Amino acid sequence: MRALRASQAFDGERFIGPVDVVLDHEGRIAEVSPWREHGSAVDLEDLGDVTILPGLVDAHQHLSWDCSPDPLGWHASNDDATLLDTARANARRALTAGITTVRDLGSRGSVALGLRDGIATDPSSGPRILASGPALTTPGGHCHFLGGECADRDELLAAVTRLAEAGVDVIKVMATGGNVTPGSLPHEAQFGPADLRAVVDAAHARGLPVAAHAHGTGGVVNALDAGVDTIEHCTFMTAEGVAQDQALIDRLAAYGTPVVLTAGSLPGPMLPALAARLPALLAHIRVMLDAGVRCVLATDAGIGPPKPHDVLVLAVLQAYEMVGVPVEQALAMCTSRAADALEIGDEAGRLAAGRAADLLVVAGRLDLDARALGTPLRVLRRGVDVLEA
Ligand SMILES: [Zn+2]
Repeated sequence: MRALRASQAFDGERFIGPVDVVLDHEGRIAEVSPWREHGSAVDLEDLGDVTILPGLVDAHQHLSWDCSPDPLGWHASNDDATLLDTARANARRALTAGITTVRDLGSRGSVALGLRDGIATDPSSGPRILASGPALTTPGGHCHFLGGECADRDELLAAVTRLAEAGVDVIKVMATGGNVTPGSLPHEAQFGPADLRAVVDAAHARGLPVAAHAHGTGGVVNALDAGVDTIEHCTFMTAEGVAQDQALIDRLAAYGTPVVLTAGSLPGPMLPALAARLPALLAHIRVMLDAGVRCVLATDAGIGPPKPHDVLVLAVLQAYEMVGVPVEQALAMCTSRAADALEIGDEAGRLAAGRAADLLVVAGRLDLDARALGTPLRVLRRGVDVLEA
């Protein structure tokens, strides 16, 4: 066995003091302890003045998308083999930034499943992947170009069966329109509450959670009432701005349904619909956090030029700088809280015995300088260093 000695750690929930993280031969964390003698059976490596933390979890990406301004055109002009090559490169980019788990919530056909299964045979080649396959949507609706169009309830149920048999980890359903699909309106609901409920029941019967994309409050209400497992975006976007609906926010908090915020942008132009609403969106996120909504910090990486597949690191900094979320809380939102929302809290998201040794090491004290997150010194996936050439 070997141990990594660090002067500081973040355990998934809080910063803690100096630790030794002992790794077993199967790529798992055997023990997290204060500095101590380990005996000759443990190879101790002193990393010096660093912070060690669990690998980050991005609960919302699109690995096979190319970050171009025209996702529809990208999908129309490329075959699945090209999408898979793109996804593999994007997954690698995420991993080397310290993102050791990615939930892919919308890729065409079986592209994301193929990537997931390939990485599973060699974990150090990419992040752990949870994949939905194509998102269920209305004919011509948001992200229809992924191939998940369903005209009625029978088609929805057939699609859930087909996806479950294909081996997806989660069902993604579009409860409203979205920003990147021409003709689709984010504030308008897609599918009624009864159809969403049928999707949830069918998915749960097969042991699959449901992630619902929802911007407008009508779709958020439908998704919440249907009992979905995560609500994606949850921006409360209207045609002109952002709705204020404290009663709905209080309901979200009371239900405890995780809300997956899709944040993080490269400097420069944002997606127009977001740029126009930015101050209102930031205030809305603040209200949700203050109300106790179970928020997870994720990205929607892949959907456009400001959102490469390592942008989660910027999301942490921007949550701190733009919304005033303490670094400790922002990190928890993309480690332990994200893993719990994805129902993999026993496997990922915490620096604790039994979890996979998916680890990130950055210079100095991360609580004092969060920018260190942008230049990881070490990234381990299942105990294997992935930054070495
Ligand atoms: Zn998305």
